This record gives sequence, structure tokens and C-alpha cells, in this order.
Amino acid sequence: MEQTCTPLRTCPICEKRSGTVLGLLTYALFDDLGIPGTKTLIQCSECGMMYDDVAFTEGQLQEYYRRNEHYAASSLGGSGSLSDDNADRYDRIIDNLHPDPKGTILDVGCGQGGFVARCLHHGFSAAGIEPSEKSRNVGLNAGLDIYTSIEEYAALHPETGISTVVISHVLEHLLRPLDMLKELIRNAPDALVYIEVPDAASYLSPRVMRWYELYFEHLNHFCKDSFSNLAAQSCIEVTRVASTPFSKNQADVQCLFLVGQFRCISDHTINQPDMVTGPRFTLPLLTKGDLLQDNRPIALWGVSQYAMLLMGSLPQLEQVDRLFDASPAKIGRKIRGITIEDAREIGTLSKETVLVLPYSQYSLQMRKEIEQSASFAGKIIQL
Ligand SMILES: [Zn+2]
Repeated sequence: MEQTCTPLRTCPICEKRSGTVLGLLTYALFDDLGIPGTKTLIQCSECGMMYDDVAFTEGQLQEYYRRNEHYAASSLGGSGSLSDDNADRYDRIIDNLHPDPKGTILDVGCGQGGFVARCLHHGFSAAGIEPSEKSRNVGLNAGLDIYTSIEEYAALHPETGISTVVISHVLEHLLRPLDMLKELIRNAPDALVYIEVPDAASYLSPRVMRWYELYFEHLNHFCKDSFSNLAAQSCIEVTRVASTPFSKNQADVQCLFLVGQFRCISDHTINQPDMVTGPRFTLPLLTKGDLLQDNRPIALWGVSQYAMLLMGSLPQLEQVDRLFDASPAKIGRKIRGITIEDAREIGTLSKETVLVLPYSQYSLQMRKEIEQSASFAGKIIQL
């Protein structure tokens, strides 16, 4: 049965407030964040966009990213690092984009600045925008030109000289993605633009549910139609929309990208796009049937966002009493009062313990590692 509602949050594309509830997503977040871990998955009644209705504000979201030092400490895809896998991905973006060699390429949400460095490597002029201080400092320490905000960049460069704007894996994180696009259009009215987002059709659809790709941080779930609507709403003249795997190492993560041109048209002349209604379905329950039949102690290794979703969703995981991770950005923080320990402490677990490994691109390797080192003699379950 469909349940219509008036979400707290307006639709990130058509800005209306009318939706159908598809389901609830509950995450056991870090205790220090002080923001609620439950999101309501909504489908906009006007345009079909799927997005998360949340009870937190823009300020609380900024605080979340400020505290979350993971992106500064990691070399993974989303961190903006200069790993080989990322360098290949940056080259894919540059190849699809054909940037104007005369102007500046602005990478908005550049993380550690890996893409900016890659552009310089290819002889382009490039700068980045990164609100997270820790990530920004990694880039600044490498001698890159990185700013806190678009506003700060524009204040220091009145003739912005921006010929190309890259927004890669950023818009799905924002409560109001159109605001960012409009600010960029004001500052770089004729720029060439490249936008990339995860393709929701590959992880959230009546045919596929990839729970491990339902990140707490992803608040907007773009499919091909809604991605085109976003472009229309923000005055981007699109020349190409296509799908691509995220990278060689994360080839199973499907993304959508578009290449287009900003067209400076004042707000009130924006044409309403042809709204398309996406697929309607009810979010299934996240269940893992035969997880545990007895009352053995449970530990969990790998405190990813998927692990937080599992902990928030599976009653069996209420029994978890020890948490482990290898990231210095997570060790010492707490979830449900349990302090995250260094993964090297796994050897101190009793052999009655069941060790849960939430799926990730590393979980197979983690399992091998633990079996080879024989540091843990209990049962291991991958979820
Ligand atoms: Zn909408």
C-alpha cells in the first residue's frame, strides 16, 4: 500500500514537498555525531526522484563531515587521493571532458586534491574546492591550489577564469544540490561541466538491492531520468549522458556521468523539465536469516557505513559487544557506547565469539588474513 507524505525536505530536483514513502533506513552512527541515524526513503510524487528525508540540518551535516576524518586518512575512491586506481579514473574524466586548455579546471569537492594534481600533470591549470579541513590540508601540503568554498575562490579570483567545472561524486551528498549548481553557474556562466554520481538503478531498484551501496551519506539517488531532470533544472545544456563503472578496482559500482555546458539564464526563466516518474517499489526489509541461533558473543570487524546499516537494521546485531577497524579515523570513536578497537586486537577475542565481517571490497582479503594468521579461532560470518 502506498503511503503518501509531506517530507521535511523538499525534492532536490523539482523542490516540491510531496512524496511516497518507499521505506526506512536505520544506521547505528557514531555516538559523537549527535544526529539521528534514520532516513526515510521517499519518491517525489511530482518528478519521480528518489531521495532521503532526514531530520538533520545543513549545519549538522557540515559538522558530520568535519568530524569524519575518514576521507583525509583513506586512499579509497571517494577520498580524492592519488592512488593508481584513482589516477586512471581521473584520466577517464579528462578524456570524456576535453577541457579547454586555456582556462582553469575547478574540481568542486576535491577531497585530497588528487584530480587537481592529475590535471596539472597533464599540463592544465586547475584548482579545487574542499570544505573538509583535514582533506583540504592534504592537498594544500602537496602544494595544490585548494579553497574552502566557491565563495572564497571567487573572492580571491574576481575574474574567475573557470573554463571547466568538475563535480564528481558530490551531489548525492548534498541536501540542496541545485544551490551548489546555481552558485557555480553564477561564477562560471559558460563553463564546460562534468557531473558524476552513483547510478541508483544499479543498487536501488525493483530488480536489484545492493544494501552495501546504500551509504548513509548518500541522500539523493539519481537514475538516468532524474539526472537529466537535474541538468534541466540547473540550466545545463547536456551534450552527453552515459554510464560507467566507478574504477578498475571498483568495477561493480555503476555511475552516471554527464558532460554539458552551463547556460546563464536567470532563475525565473528556467524551463520546467519533462518530469519522468521513476520505478515505484517498496524497499524490502534488510534481513540475514540464519545469522545466529544462540547467545554467543558477537564482534564486528570493518565499521563501514554498510556495517552501520546492518547494526541499525538487524535485531541479531544488538548483541554486538566489540567493534574493530583499521582506520585511525575510526579507532577510539564509539557506537552504542562500544569503543572501536584497533583491528590488531582481534586476537584477544574468545573462541566462542562470532566475528561478523560486513561485505566490502576488502572483506574477502580480511577473512583470508585472519585465517592465515590464525589469530582468531571462532566462527566468521560475512554479511
Ligand atoms: Zn521532485
